[in-house]
Amino acid sequence: MIPVCEPLIGQREIELVNQCLASGWVSSAGRFIDAFEDNWAAYCGMAHGVSVCNGTAALHVAVGLLDLQPGDEVILPTFTIISCAQAITAWGGVPVLVDSDPVTWQMDIDQVAANITARTKAIMAVHTYGHPVDMDPLAQLASRYGLVLIEDAAEAHGALYKGRRCGGLGDISVFSFYANKLITTGEGGMVLCRRTDWAEKARGLRNLGFGPGRRFHHEQLGFNYRMTNLQAAMGVAQMERLDQIVKQKRAIAKAYHQRLEGLDSLRLAVEAPWATNIYWVVGLVLNDPAGPTAEDLAGALKRRGVDTRPFFLGMHAQPAFQSMGLFAGQRYPVADNLARMGLYLPNGLTITEAQIDEVCQAVRAELNHPGRNHD
Ligand SMILES: *Cc1c(COP(=O)(O)O)cnc(C)c1O
Repeated sequence: MIPVCEPLIGQREIELVNQCLASGWVSSAGRFIDAFEDNWAAYCGMAHGVSVCNGTAALHVAVGLLDLQPGDEVILPTFTIISCAQAITAWGGVPVLVDSDPVTWQMDIDQVAANITARTKAIMAVHTYGHPVDMDPLAQLASRYGLVLIEDAAEAHGALYKGRRCGGLGDISVFSFYANKLITTGEGGMVLCRRTDWAEKARGLRNLGFGPGRRFHHEQLGFNYRMTNLQAAMGVAQMERLDQIVKQKRAIAKAYHQRLEGLDSLRLAVEAPWATNIYWVVGLVLNDPAGPTAEDLAGALKRRGVDTRPFFLGMHAQPAFQSMGLFAGQRYPVADNLARMGLYLPNGLTITEAQIDEVCQAVRAELNHPGRNHD
């Protein structure tokens, strides 16, 4: 089976993690924590970095900085991972969903503008599958209506918007360093922000509300969302290779696109003129509503030894939210189509040219002969 993604761990990661082990700094203090936070914030052009234990925790902390009151609204795409919407409901806020652009698969900017109300406190832009959201119009809306602009850049390490780094375009940004992300710390996450008071508050939320003053004196409540020095050591080492990893991801996507472009049964990811897509995944969307679905294609590819993953299922379609009375009767046809017709192909850093050939031959063969009834 050709896997969808395998992390590539180098000698440098082993060397730095071994330094932690040898030094005894294995918990959440240590020089790699500071180095990783500083390096990552600087790379993205943000003032402060607060490392946490995963991307979901980073979103929870980021939304915690908004001081949401019950009924306050945050606008986000329905086509995303549940961590985004859950971070809002966890603080008593109301997630307000928008549909996706059918070409870029990113949040529909016109719908963001149309959904701003007196209760709106923030916009959460999610750079989906490695392509940036069109941020300038969102920044204009945020400044006109006094909203906080949050970027979920967990799929966009190193991606550029008009030459500027994703994760450095809003007021707060979050990253994940899960094993399948562009760089990994095993599990891991980061909150970046511009405001010093927000960075302090984020550090408190990460660490049980401990403040800089007397130990065991708490002015706020928090969580244990700390990253370990071991994870940060891995992150420091991975970061040294990030430019190379971005090049490789782009080269893998190019190899796929050369082999699959022009098939009228599917559409591939695009790169807007103002974007540098880092192709976190190599996605495709099937065109024929009467033909095979992504699920059909995934099953057929699996039988040919090719592993894939389906696209997101929209937040509006989640029973966990419907049972809270959210999103009743709302329709998001573009996201629904992406969910039904979209999947992504193997693009781990360990994939070979021969494997890409094999995957593309399998896709081509299946789409000419879907084989749903006679496989
Ligand atoms: C992976 C991901 C997250 C969650 O990160 P974890 O580290 O898995 O908790 C959040 N948002 C997006 C867009 C992601 O892709």
